[in-house]
Amino acid sequence: MKMRRLMRMKIERQKELEQIADLRKELNTQLEEKEKELQELSKTIQHLEQKIQEAQVKTKRLESQQSSVKKVDEFNALTQEITASERERIATEQKVSDLVDKRVAEEEILEKIKESLVVSQESSAALEKEIEANIVLINEEGRGLKEARDALAKEADPETLAIYERLLRNKKDRVVVSIENRACSGCHIVLTAQHENVVRKGENLVFCEHCSRIHYWQESEALEGSAGAGKRRRRRVASSS
Ligand SMILES: [Zn+2]
Repeated sequence: MKMRRLMRMKIERQKELEQIADLRKELNTQLEEKEKELQELSKTIQHLEQKIQEAQVKTKRLESQQSSVKKVDEFNALTQEITASERERIATEQKVSDLVDKRVAEEEILEKIKESLVVSQESSAALEKEIEANIVLINEEGRGLKEARDALAKEADPETLAIYERLLRNKKDRVVVSIENRACSGCHIVLTAQHENVVRKGENLVFCEHCSRIHYWQESEALEGSAGAGKRRRRRVASSS
């Protein structure tokens, strides 16, 4: 019974470990995506800044051209070109300014992701250590219990052991239970005084007439339900621990 509980605990802990790993994987994916996004953004900004420079060069060239023309209509045509070039430069600068703002915001998000990744790594490292220590403990305890159980099983009455094993398989729960307030602590149905007396004497194996679990008298047993069917085995467990 205790073994089953330990096994369940081990499986749960391992699931926790997997969840932590999944979370970290998710954070890493987010981080990668954000970094890629920022790279793209920087590339776009760079490209636009180049366009601004080109517009500036173009404007200067048109201005110097304009200073040397004599005809009014040529002069006016160049004025229009300069205006268009300047308009494009201003529009591009506005775009760059917006994108730089966006990049600042994205960088903040990236920092947040990095921070939570660090926090998650720290806390999960601590938790992983704890879980791994727990698993080691569970394995040790489980091995100890199995050895104790095997040793006891060798000495136990084979018939009693068979009953015990069958009960364990059927109930998947504690099968050796105490009587509390004259009720079976397995199924909680009230028992007769006569039944209680028989259990208290402890001469024979007594089964609950409602749920078939094995009953023992609590006062005489410090350790409950761990490994024993039959009085002899339980007593050995109690004294060896
Ligand atoms: Zn019962």
